[in-house]
Amino acid sequence: MINRLSSQDWLTAFLDVLLPRKCIVCGGVLSLREKHVCIKCLGDLPRTFYSFMERNRMSERFNDLVQRDLDSRSAGGTAIPVPYSLAAALFYYRASTGYRNITKSLKYHGNKAAGRYFAEMLVEEMVASGLYHDVDAVIPVPLHWSRRWSRGYNQAEVIGRVMAKILGAELRLDVLKRKRRTRTQTKLSIERKVANVSGAFALTKNASLAGKSHILLVDDVFTTGATVHACYEVIRKIAPPPVKISVATLACVGE
Ligand SMILES: [Zn+2]
Repeated sequence: MINRLSSQDWLTAFLDVLLPRKCIVCGGVLSLREKHVCIKCLGDLPRTFYSFMERNRMSERFNDLVQRDLDSRSAGGTAIPVPYSLAAALFYYRASTGYRNITKSLKYHGNKAAGRYFAEMLVEEMVASGLYHDVDAVIPVPLHWSRRWSRGYNQAEVIGRVMAKILGAELRLDVLKRKRRTRTQTKLSIERKVANVSGAFALTKNASLAGKSHILLVDDVFTTGATVHACYEVIRKIAPPPVKISVATLACVGE
């Protein structure tokens, strides 16, 4: 057994003695083969498996927002048919459990490696489902430049980068920008959330998505969908139907 350990394993084992790696969810000490999360917490991860469903609760919530907007605009006129947006999330976000630490540690504690690890898990599911095979552009929800500067990175971009690579799509950071910082959304109602983020995003100068047919919007957490929807609205200006715009996040609040 000992002979089978690689030099990398020896190094990990040595570092584990000096500074034990902990499970991101339960805080237990990880064994040599475990990465970021212990086998028990990984087995209990409340996965949504939304990647395999053309319609699910998240996609219904998102498409409701899209439809609501279309209805208000096309009042009295004819509605333009828009393709149904797919939506995928790796797991259900539950504030009362340790699983919230997955997105928390990526967003606030600089744990980009864990973010990439879980993003890979999600995108592998999306590849297996076949529903996302034609995604040709990945757009992470942008941060306001001042927040990006103080945090040093954009958590949605960390996830988006992994997704673009595995889906074989282009990572597009040159399309959307955040014009203003928005208030923390946690305690706002859905109407207030929509109002809070509306107008927060804009197209960059010379933004183009010419030739793209399926765009994937990426964020860390999906709550009401207000943020991704605000991005959707802006992107639609340069990517009208029949271009498909779908959504993927690590976590989805609900259930
Ligand atoms: Zn654990």
